[in-house]
Amino acid sequence: MPIDPTKPYDESNIFAKILRGELPSKKVYEDEWALAFHDINPLAPVHILVIPKGPYVSWDDFSDRASDAEMAGFVRAVGKVARDQQLVVGGYRLLANTGKRAGQEVPHLHVHIFGGQPLGPMLA
Ligand code: C5P
Repeated sequence: MPIDPTKPYDESNIFAKILRGELPSKKVYEDEWALAFHDINPLAPVHILVIPKGPYVSWDDFSDRASDAEMAGFVRAVGKVARDQQLVVGGYRLLANTGKRAGQEVPHLHVHIFGGQPLGPMLA
């Protein structure tokens, strides 16, 4: 079920549990601002999710409420993960499904990083 973007942050969402260490993830990177892990259902040879450490429901929420330091830290983490995964030369795609019509399933902001193959005009 797509999330309801008008609801406040739900501390029991699955990515909040991963951040608290209550559920496992295949971690690829972590710093003060972000955690990155392999998507459990990869849609490309490289499919990583990067999430901010703060409690933000979506890109909309994050871009509205996060501090400049959180935004800078998160954006830098996304770029670093892509570089660390050797995706720059071949190219990669970022995606942040936001709200119902985009089909956002988990109510904690996550940026998908896709790479490792030609991606075509859109990913299904
Ligand atoms: O952007 P959207 O909300 O649709 O994506 C959620 C993503 O979270 C899916 O790609 C799903 O495979 C992934 N996921 C995960 N680990 C979980 C639950 C969901 O990687 N435990």
